[in-house]
Amino acid sequence: MDNRKIRVRFAPSPTGPLHIGGVRTALYNYFFAKKNGGDFILRIEDTDSQRFVPGAEEYINEALKWCGIKIDEGVREGGTYGPYKQSERKEIYLKYAEQLVNSGHAYYAFDTPDELNAIRAKYDSQGRIFSYNHEVRKKLATSLNLSSEEVERRIANGDNWVIRFKMPESEEIIMNDLIRGEVKVNSSTLDDKVLYKSSDKLPTYHLANIVDDHLMEITHVIRGEEWLPSLPLHYKVYEALGWKNTQPRFAHLPLLLKPTGSGKLSKRDGDKLGFPVFPLQWTSPDGEVSRGYREDGYFPEAFVNMLSLLGWNPGSDQEIFSMEELIDLFSLEKVGKSGSRFDPGKSKWFNAQYLKVKSDDELSELFHPVLASKGIYADKAKVEKICGMIKERATFVSDFWGLSSFFFIAPEIYDPKAVAKFWKGDNPQRLSELKELIAKSENFTSGELEKTVHDWITEKQYPMGQIMNSFRLCIVGESKGPNMFDICEIIGKEETVSRLNKALKTL
Ligand code: GLU
Repeated sequence: MDNRKIRVRFAPSPTGPLHIGGVRTALYNYFFAKKNGGDFILRIEDTDSQRFVPGAEEYINEALKWCGIKIDEGVREGGTYGPYKQSERKEIYLKYAEQLVNSGHAYYAFDTPDELNAIRAKYDSQGRIFSYNHEVRKKLATSLNLSSEEVERRIANGDNWVIRFKMPESEEIIMNDLIRGEVKVNSSTLDDKVLYKSSDKLPTYHLANIVDDHLMEITHVIRGEEWLPSLPLHYKVYEALGWKNTQPRFAHLPLLLKPTGSGKLSKRDGDKLGFPVFPLQWTSPDGEVSRGYREDGYFPEAFVNMLSLLGWNPGSDQEIFSMEELIDLFSLEKVGKSGSRFDPGKSKWFNAQYLKVKSDDELSELFHPVLASKGIYADKAKVEKICGMIKERATFVSDFWGLSSFFFIAPEIYDPKAVAKFWKGDNPQRLSELKELIAKSENFTSGELEKTVHDWITEKQYPMGQIMNSFRLCIVGESKGPNMFDICEIIGKEETVSRLNKALKTL
């Protein structure tokens, strides 16, 4: 088994948008496969037709693509182990369910939902919990108790039946999880799960998942912790089908926890605290819109980097990783056993780190549509320069306009606090002198201008802070922003003088 090619699958059910916990599962599968020269398979598990949501499968594909995951085999990509959607594999499963019945590992059960509800109600009234298990199965209408003629008659008659796995009694099931190590369960605590239903001629998750993982030659199953309770059943089914030797190895990933650290991260936490829990925006069939990281302005690299570190750590202080580095460094041994607390502030920090190192050229392209929406079509070189000056202070490209509008349009209003603080005493008169000085200056570059203005201030013995802040107030409209002389160089001499004139008139 160990010299087989590594093959992993991400196997979502198309029941809605992919939660970021699901995206993390996909990423860890991807890193693991690529690190080991293996294949990443996308399988759509849509056997539960009642939970099917239109658009969910497209969403899954788009989300994985946005993250930069390249699928080796899947519904769209094809492959030699297809079809990759369970509803297109319907015919495959019954024979395995029957094989389990014939070998004595499973049985037909004929109880109707009404009968089961009645038994459940009886248990409830006695304060007991009903579980369809080794004790109960002896008393119910199953092929274990009915004669074979009766079983055949009922099936021929078209009665509904299911095939249940006959969980052995009092057996210690010893399992191995690549993250948790050895896990033991006594089989008497487990119930007889349904594997196949005649009503829709479909397998349940458990059977379909095992049969497909086997037929698709999956070597490693890396999935969320919520599937750990199913592992004993899966072990027993692999064994019963005679597939123990090629059974995949399992790794169950810890949960993503709420920002408070208690409980699983849910969509409602996101709504409450104002951060997305989905990679892409999602509009549900009834029109409800949920935010997505993409639409909120996150770079996919930042999103992937942030998510990858929730549950895995490289064993060093490094925090910024490219996809290649993540693949190179990833190992299941370094995935933690306990849940990881989600930190919305940290996601923003990651985005800011990625934004800072983007080229001014790329940022100017991203900023362009924002400017166009304001009717501003500035020279590309100018926009690039501006991006370079403001990127240190931005988290998202959507912050750019707020940080740079004064480069494109003269201030309409002046911050009253700054006015009160700086537009007083001799300052307006001195700014009028500064305007004359600037109007006369020749070489209008940041460096030259800085020298001219500083020399003038020193010569006149004016207070530097007061003058420079008043100057900023006239040009920017408030008391913050990048270096004043850089701003002047970008907006040009004419505009600088005109803004000084405007301020001198208005203030
Ligand atoms: N279809 C299951 C899900 O939606 C897959 C679980 C597994 O990976 O085995 O999570």
